[in-house]
Amino acid sequence: MIVGIPKGLLYYKYHPFLITFFKELGAEVITSEDTNKDILDLGVKYCVDEACLPIKIFHGHVVSIKDKCDLMVIPRIMQLNKNEFICPKFCGLPEMVLNSIDNMPPTITDPIYAISKNTLYRWAKTTGTRVTHDTFKIKHAYKKAYESLINHQTGINDKLNNMKIALVGHPYNIYDNYINMNLVSKLNKLGVAVETMEFTQDFLINLEINNLYKKPFWTFARENYGFAVNAATEKRVDGIIYISSFNCGIDSVIIELIKDRIGSFPFLTLKVDEHTGEAGIETRVEAFTDMLERRIQNESNIPTHG
Ligand code: SF4
Repeated sequence: MIVGIPKGLLYYKYHPFLITFFKELGAEVITSEDTNKDILDLGVKYCVDEACLPIKIFHGHVVSIKDKCDLMVIPRIMQLNKNEFICPKFCGLPEMVLNSIDNMPPTITDPIYAISKNTLYRWAKTTGTRVTHDTFKIKHAYKKAYESLINHQTGINDKLNNMKIALVGHPYNIYDNYINMNLVSKLNKLGVAVETMEFTQDFLINLEINNLYKKPFWTFARENYGFAVNAATEKRVDGIIYISSFNCGIDSVIIELIKDRIGSFPFLTLKVDEHTGEAGIETRVEAFTDMLERRIQNESNIPTHG
């Protein structure tokens, strides 16, 4: 059996789990290619117009492998932490895809509650039966998959002795280099080091959250807010770049909350959608880093919001 895994959305965080699990069950696993123009075009063609860019791109990944696999995995991720949820588009992702794309192969759509080892095992027990009915094999595959997930490190913390920025955003915007147009390497070429959320301990993120009137119930909103504010108030970085998808409701709230809290600390929002031009992104990033450099040299009151 060939199992297809689309390389979109939270693939960047959780692919070792999915790939190991299905391989250990005895299936052949294929993934789509890294995001590219063809995949984007397919996504734009098949997905509803109102969706954000990462959701459109996910559709493109699905279309690109749907005829090459016997079983497709569309992770319906519901929760990553207790008492928190993630974007509703993740919960309805299988319905969006299955209603927009014809001739889909059989698809795994069971909800994933990844809040503990046990809740994740429940997902594995159910989905594993789509490949084998050997319960021992499913348990073993889950164990191996969980180990690979624990050992999988993500995050960027450059050690360049220079300017540093906090790069904030949802994991698919930060780790999909087609979506962000190679932002990290562009920054590094300009001599700017990058730090991402994974290097801030959870208790520091939660300390910042305690200052809000109400705790955000979206996991990525809590993490992005806590990381950005902590990096700014502790002055670990010289500025913040928030990469955000046009149409993202969560980002539209969190960006305003961050700005409200950090005051005049340098902050640049980069909005991306399928029409975003690379030259425009480059110009804005260069202007922002120039401003940071002048600010560091002059310690003046140069306006900071981009
Ligand atoms: S959180 Fe925002 S960017 Fe992510 S899927 Fe939801 S709407 Fe799209």
